[in-house]
Amino acid sequence: MHPMVKPALRRGWRDLNTVQFGMTPAHALTVGPVDTATGSFLDLLDGTRGLELLREEARRIDLPEGHTDRLVRRLSRAGLLDDSRGGGPAGEALRGKPEVIERLRPDLASLSLTTSEPGDPLRRMAARRGMRVQVRGAGRVGAAVAALLSGAGVGEVLVRDVGRVEPWDVSPGGLPPESVGERREEAARRAVRRAAPDRPPRRTARSPLEEGDPGYSLVVLAPRDDVAVHAPDPAAAQTLLDSGTPHLYAGVVEATGVAGPLVLPGETSCAGCLQQDRVDRDPTWPRLVAQWRSGHRRRTGACDVTLATTVAGLAAAHALAFLDGRVPSTAGARWEVSLPGLHWHARSVWPHAACPCGAAGRGPREETSGPDEGKREHTTGGGGSRATMAVQGPPDQCRRQADAERPAGTWRAHV
Ligand SMILES: [Zn+2]
Repeated sequence: MHPMVKPALRRGWRDLNTVQFGMTPAHALTVGPVDTATGSFLDLLDGTRGLELLREEARRIDLPEGHTDRLVRRLSRAGLLDDSRGGGPAGEALRGKPEVIERLRPDLASLSLTTSEPGDPLRRMAARRGMRVQVRGAGRVGAAVAALLSGAGVGEVLVRDVGRVEPWDVSPGGLPPESVGERREEAARRAVRRAAPDRPPRRTARSPLEEGDPGYSLVVLAPRDDVAVHAPDPAAAQTLLDSGTPHLYAGVVEATGVAGPLVLPGETSCAGCLQQDRVDRDPTWPRLVAQWRSGHRRRTGACDVTLATTVAGLAAAHALAFLDGRVPSTAGARWEVSLPGLHWHARSVWPHAACPCGAAGRGPREETSGPDEGKREHTTGGGGSRATMAVQGPPDQCRRQADAERPAGTWRAHV
């Protein structure tokens, strides 16, 4: 291990023996007491030295025996350390591509703030390369979601849509002007390729069992049709529910942007739950939806380019959080924002007892109600070390949501 104090966190001394790592409430930690010698020793934890060399340096400046290991252990437990040689074999392979690493440097730095174990950032980034995501809909929202996920390092992003690119499909983050008239799927495929930091990893031969559909880590439903955004048809997602495929809704309808819900089949609410709930609240809902859906008149929906891009960015961020092994706040909720006020708010979508998806039968997810992982350092005793070094994390509510962790890419195994 070549320990490295996470460079993404700015460091500052709150007083003579308390160090604050990071600036923002979501990720900042204070560590203390830290004496001056240890303080300057922190500068040596920059990923260029192995543990043996660090112990030597510590002896040279008269730090007590065992101090290096204790310090490294503590900082590691607090989630403040990365390992410049870590990330496993897949991480190692990625490190061998410096031009890709350069492209993804800010993304890796960001991953260093949302992961805790040394080596995790590169491991997670490498895992993204093995992910397979389908985006349904290549309009202003869908094409941008696809390009963003590809740009973030997701190895395989497949876009599904019909027809040809219309002038109004074009957006700076999605389909380019020169693609007008091309098949939407083909144009989106090119946008995905252009955004990718690397050539997609070559698929190894599939076993006969996987022949046909190897399955998706996630499907993003980003319909161009605004009725489908506002009132997603449960039937359209039935095969996803049946196969246990996680899916996320996103789109723009009448100057309102929507991201969510993220559906974890059988665990969190789905489009059917949303529909049932709406019928409960408004018995005329089905009549209205039927009229909206039957409107065949060719029309261009209201879809402001900045709102579409905002929704695409948010949806892609939620998708990525999920692919990285977290449960983001779109699970069980739709985030909505309307022009021109642009106040974001989350509308809960509860599992509905009448929905056959089965989410209503499940208790609250352990992951979302589990103990706050940020507290771990508080509970690990000092074990007789000479100084008790306390680490204080952000308040609970900052981490309550969207912070539950599970091994990335393992969702399908649950179903
Ligand atoms: Zn449901």
